[in-house]
Amino acid sequence: MSIKHLVKCNILKLKPYQSARKLGGKGNIWLNANEYPLTPKYICNIKNLNRYPECQPSLLINKYANYVNIKSKQVLVCRGADEGISLLIRAFCDFNKDKILFCPPTYGMYKVSSEILGIKFFEINTINNWQLDLNKIINNLKNVKLIYLCNPNNPTGNIINHNDIIYLLKIIKNKALLVIDEAYIDFCLNFSLTYLIEKNENLVILRTLSKAFALAGIRCGFILSNSYIIKILTKIIDPYPIPSPVIDIASQALSENGIKQTKLRIMNIHYNKAIFIKDLKECKCVMKVYSSLSNYCLVKFDSRYQVFKSLWNKGIILRDQSLQPGLIDCIRITIGTLKECKQIIKILKILKPNKLL
Ligand SMILES: *Cc1c(COP(=O)(O)O)cnc(C)c1O
Repeated sequence: MSIKHLVKCNILKLKPYQSARKLGGKGNIWLNANEYPLTPKYICNIKNLNRYPECQPSLLINKYANYVNIKSKQVLVCRGADEGISLLIRAFCDFNKDKILFCPPTYGMYKVSSEILGIKFFEINTINNWQLDLNKIINNLKNVKLIYLCNPNNPTGNIINHNDIIYLLKIIKNKALLVIDEAYIDFCLNFSLTYLIEKNENLVILRTLSKAFALAGIRCGFILSNSYIIKILTKIIDPYPIPSPVIDIASQALSENGIKQTKLRIMNIHYNKAIFIKDLKECKCVMKVYSSLSNYCLVKFDSRYQVFKSLWNKGIILRDQSLQPGLIDCIRITIGTLKECKQIIKILKILKPNKLL
């Protein structure tokens, strides 16, 4: 291409976020992206599609603030938590100087977002049961503006020690923001840190309707923080970021009845998860099932069984994690319907080890 030299270097080098959907996987059971397995039934009632939507639709904002029990001025709505990740980098990180920090194994978009935006990143792997390496973090805070923590962590499913988070918030006060990605917190709401927003100016929390609310298709997420940070982010978000049909459906999902449905879905997933984990533990190829407070579980398999590929070939799409630090032979499996869970177990039970290994 004669115009190749026009592309920014960091974009030429970029390894984009990988997903089975992007790769064109042909599956009939999709348990790779932590979506809810069934679609909620909402009807879009928007009449005035000729008009631009509100930049920050107040009705929707109020509803989410109400769900979280914080003030409306502490909420920003965006196109999924993913947009939240990049908005924060764009607002707070200076090119060539500032860094973001995160702790693998974790969600892949912190790295990809910083690479796209040309911002340096620093990775500090977690230690003992995927907890923070606090000493190492504290000794590497130079030029760090944002620390991204995923809680509960994707893909490991664990919660980060509460005291560690409180300690870190104190240490980085006035120096950096702590961004807690609570994409899965609806599955274990007791662990939410939203109550800390009021007293910690450097705390930001990311939320989404993509997981427990079963609405990954509408691309709706929220940033929760103090009103100052919300104002700063409102300055840089696109003028009309949220489509009217999204506002309409998200508002329905956050109605009293919508929230009740979500609570039922969450109970359902926890129920299916308990049965699935019990069944997994009876499979010969399973080495370890890590406990998870979320809607997925991380499973370590005996490397002699080609689990990921065998299931892929049968149309069951999971998320291979073996390239993440410490996660060799690990696969993340989204909790699906009971029928989907049983189908996986049925295949795992008859899987034979690869004799060549
Ligand atoms: C799924 C996920 C997201 C992305 O959420 P969207 O609202 O769909 O953009 C963000 N963070 C984590 C940890 C996730 O697993």
